[in-house]
Amino acid sequence: MLTRMQFEDIRQSWVEYAEGAERKGILISEIRGLLGYGGIIHNFKNYVLRQETVYLERVQAQLVVFDGIMSTFDSLDLSDEERAAVADVKDAIDDYAAMLPVAVQAVENNWTAERIDARVKVDDTRAVAGMAALERNWQALQRSSSNRLLTAVEQGQTLIWIGFLSLLALVLAALLVGWLLYGMYRDLRHAVDDLADELTERKRLEHSESRLATAVEQSPATIIITDTEARIQYVNTKFTELTGWTLAEIKGQTPAFLQSGETTQEVYNQIRTGLAKGEVWHGVFRNRKKDGASYWAESTILPLVAPDGSILNFIGISEDITEKRQARDQVVRAQKLEAVGQLAGGVAHDFNNILTTIVGSTHLASLDAPENSDLAGEIAQIDIAARRAQSLIRELLTFARREPGEMRTINLGTIIDEVIGLLKASVPPIITIRHIPEDEPLFVRGDATHLHQIIMNLCRNAAEALAGNAGEITLTVVPYANKRVQLKVTDTGPGMSAETQRHLFEPFFTTKPIGKGTGLGLSVVYGLVDEMGGQISVHSELGQGSTFIVDLPRAAKSEADEVATEDEIPRGTERIILVDDEAEVLGTFRRLLQRLGYRVEAFTSPRIALDRFRSDPSRFDLVISDMVMPDMSGEDMVRELRTLRPEIPVVFCSAYKPRIVAVPGIAPAMLDKPVQPAKLAQELRRLLDKALAS
Ligand code: ADP
Ligand code: MG
Repeated sequence: MLTRMQFEDIRQSWVEYAEGAERKGILISEIRGLLGYGGIIHNFKNYVLRQETVYLERVQAQLVVFDGIMSTFDSLDLSDEERAAVADVKDAIDDYAAMLPVAVQAVENNWTAERIDARVKVDDTRAVAGMAALERNWQALQRSSSNRLLTAVEQGQTLIWIGFLSLLALVLAALLVGWLLYGMYRDLRHAVDDLADELTERKRLEHSESRLATAVEQSPATIIITDTEARIQYVNTKFTELTGWTLAEIKGQTPAFLQSGETTQEVYNQIRTGLAKGEVWHGVFRNRKKDGASYWAESTILPLVAPDGSILNFIGISEDITEKRQARDQVVRAQKLEAVGQLAGGVAHDFNNILTTIVGSTHLASLDAPENSDLAGEIAQIDIAARRAQSLIRELLTFARREPGEMRTINLGTIIDEVIGLLKASVPPIITIRHIPEDEPLFVRGDATHLHQIIMNLCRNAAEALAGNAGEITLTVVPYANKRVQLKVTDTGPGMSAETQRHLFEPFFTTKPIGKGTGLGLSVVYGLVDEMGGQISVHSELGQGSTFIVDLPRAAKSEADEVATEDEIPRGTERIILVDDEAEVLGTFRRLLQRLGYRVEAFTSPRIALDRFRSDPSRFDLVISDMVMPDMSGEDMVRELRTLRPEIPVVFCSAYKPRIVAVPGIAPAMLDKPVQPAKLAQELRRLLDKALAS
């Protein structure tokens, strides 16, 4: 504002100077020109003196100019003094103008210069004084104007200077402020950076901490953290999943509630002393879950030690290795079974030969023992034991799949009675085993030994389920639908849970303690039933007993396969050539056959037997031979015999069950060792009668 006023002032001064003083000055100098040398008065005087018209003309022209200047002057803003001065000048010039015609007249009248001059004399002192006054005034004005202008300019300069200084100050101030601000910014920036760094670091720490926490929480191993007094402070999710215990339930307790009692207190004490010394313990526990079930935990227990060496916590990390153990146990069991199979195959031959002697001799002894005597009773016991041994070795061979099944038509009732006969000897008398027979006998197609095994396994499980308590096992066979039969084995035992029923037929599934159950029984039964074209199912509820139902295709009764009752022992008097490399077996057979009335020639060597036969081929009516012998097989020997007597009947007795027997002519009869004397007698009669008939 001040600056604007100052500049306005400068402008005013300039206008004043330019429009007033300057114009006035020009007019004043023009007037002075008209009044000075060569001016109006000068030319007027020259005209008077020289009387030349040129001066007259000059005066006349200059008067016109003067009048113009005067009228211009009137329009100017003049002070009183100036006005008076101008008036004085004008009066003087007007006086000259008035004298001009007088002078012209005088010149025309040829007056002398002196005369004219005297006549036209004009007093111009006032004009000179007026002129001086005008000039003085103008100069004063000019001075004041220029003074004002100067002042204004000076002020303007001051202003510019001040402005410059202000600007400079402003710039400096700005620089200072800028520098200060920059400093502040820098400091702030540092502070913020530091803060950000700290935050990042803290976040990183938190992150890694939470990552650690997550790793511990979601670890596939169970993790327990206790204080130094072994009181639980933390357990992870896996621990809860596995054991059923939540942290809330067990916080503050010692892990003793996990103990199944299988680890001795001594071991726990050792762990405790070791940990107190800062040692790590590694081993396997059998632990207990909340629901009482047990599991194997491969565990590492270690103390968490602070930098100063003091123990902060104990941490226990365990892996549930129950399944691993079970898998390992299964492999072990399978291998054991394999070994049993091999062993069974290896000993079967010898074992069956031994049994042949036992069974045969028992039979012979029974024939001599007085009826209903104690001796007869003992002999009957030996017979039962021998048969059990026989069925055992068969089962072993079937387990190992060493013995193929032999399809026959079998009377179910007969097999059931056989099984019950065997079972009764091994089951406590408080368990009743009943067979409710059908009116008509029911037949199925299959291998008698296999069927034997099916029924035996079901009954044995039933007896085991009763666990020595009183109870009943009932076996029934009923015709069912079209051409099917159902064999039911029912017990009054504890029954089973739905869970057990789901896994029942899986190999190695057992609820029995190690050493008692193999978990193979029902899986073998399942396989055998399936082989016979049947199905097996189970009905059971906890506390309600169990019923196993075997559904089999029914077969029509077939004459050829009909097994005669054991009581019938037909006799004969024919000549038999008997060959077996084992002297004891040979002896037993010979005595048996002789007892039946036959005439027997026995040989341990097939070659000697052959020689004897060749010497008189028609002497013999039948051949009984072992199959596997050291110097010649039974088959080879029979082939030779048949070149001499193509139709001679042959009975093979073998400790192994061969798949095919390759001999020419009529198929030989096959008898498994140990041979049942009754069966042998029946086969001999059948073959001899047939040969006689042809
Ligand atoms: P193992 O007898 O060796 O255990 P099994 O395959 O014969 O193997 O039987 C499997 C399981 O089925 C048994 O451990 C038992 O839990 C159950 N089981 C079988 N039969 C019966 C039954 N009659 N009553 C109750 N449980 C049974
Ligand atoms: Mg069983």
